[in-house]
Amino acid sequence: MKLRELTLAALLLTATSASATELADAIQQDYDDYLWPLFDYFHRNPELSLVEVETAKRMAEELRAAGFEVTENVGGTGVVAIMENGPGPFVMMRADMDGLPVQEKSGLENASVKQQTDPITGNTVYTMHACGHDVHITSLVGTARQMASRRDEWSGKLMLLVQPAEERVLGAQMMKDDDLWQRFGTPEYAFAFHVSSENVAGKINVSEGSPYAGADTVDIIIHGVGAHGASPHAGKDPIVLGSQIVLALQTLVARELSPRAAGVVTVGSFHSGTKHNIISDRAHLQLTVRNTNEETRRILLEGIQRIAVNMGRVAGLPEDRLPEVIVSKESVPPTTNTAELARRLKTAWNARIGTDAVIENPTRGMGAEDFPIFTVDPDIPSVYWAIGGTPQADFDRAAAGGPPVPSHHSPLFKIAPEPSVTRGVESTVVALLEVMPKQLAAR
Ligand SMILES: [Zn+2]
Ligand SMILES: [Zn+2]
Repeated sequence: MKLRELTLAALLLTATSASATELADAIQQDYDDYLWPLFDYFHRNPELSLVEVETAKRMAEELRAAGFEVTENVGGTGVVAIMENGPGPFVMMRADMDGLPVQEKSGLENASVKQQTDPITGNTVYTMHACGHDVHITSLVGTARQMASRRDEWSGKLMLLVQPAEERVLGAQMMKDDDLWQRFGTPEYAFAFHVSSENVAGKINVSEGSPYAGADTVDIIIHGVGAHGASPHAGKDPIVLGSQIVLALQTLVARELSPRAAGVVTVGSFHSGTKHNIISDRAHLQLTVRNTNEETRRILLEGIQRIAVNMGRVAGLPEDRLPEVIVSKESVPPTTNTAELARRLKTAWNARIGTDAVIENPTRGMGAEDFPIFTVDPDIPSVYWAIGGTPQADFDRAAAGGPPVPSHHSPLFKIAPEPSVTRGVESTVVALLEVMPKQLAAR
């Protein structure tokens, strides 16, 4: 009995590691033959948010060629690809596809020299995949090709979603507003990953918490009373009042949030005045406000309102001239992983890819993502992970006093495509096979 158990265990282990190697080998082969030239094309041809026309067209062609049923122009340039493969859960994998208005200075042989007219500003600008979304879409095609060739290993309905305008935090909402769920159904699970220059190439970094913050955009309009610069007593100086508001806002995070809660209030812009000797009658502050939960968001937004208005009273402004606080409707909730699902994927990755490939680096920044637009209201269990994109040697060089590892959105941004794309595909395929196992009924 014991021997039989041992043999079974050994057999299972062999089967698992054999299939793990088989999957990794198949993806590597596909990278060499197919995905590398595709990545090269995307890297050389980045397109700005909302005008990802050629990228979307190419993605639609690739996903159709892989055997998916493809719908284009969903919420602008969005693409939805569906493969139905018997009974089972409905699962979505999302990749964002936009580039940035940055002139690439990475020194790479395939650096972008493209220019495009920005549909929002009207300016013609250089474009670059400076956030690594070229890794995401190339990996999505790799995933499509693996899932199509492994139809006997899974069962259910798979949606591969190509999203526009993530960098402007618009695309997810645009796709949802185009009746995404009504037209294609509401998935039971939703996944996405971001390549990360902060992690070692090929490492899967997954959190059971919140990998991205929620973000709000706030404007504060200060109405002063204009006067000659030499007669401050005759006016109400909005620059002095604005400065007091900027400093008072800093107490929100320092003194009102729990020290264990994460929040940011950044005044990114402060505009007022025209000339040395004129006291302006108006100042305009622009803020970004970040949170990782609804309670923090409420404390910060209410605090901003209270401070701005009451500092106006302190300055002696009449009730009808107090500062105005405008919170933009374009708000994104925090990206919060479903802890139990994140643990489940981590177990699957550990088993099928290897424990040394999976890490949990704490999130340091309060960057935001529009992926949670897909996963709240209605709530969909979801996991958003990161794939490291920087070779260990680059970190070692930086630690020894060499050039720092360039951050996302930098003109020097540089991702090692091979480990990023292959691990991007492998982690996605393993996650999908985990939640969409072959159903007994379908055998
Ligand atoms: Zn970005
Ligand atoms: Zn990005």
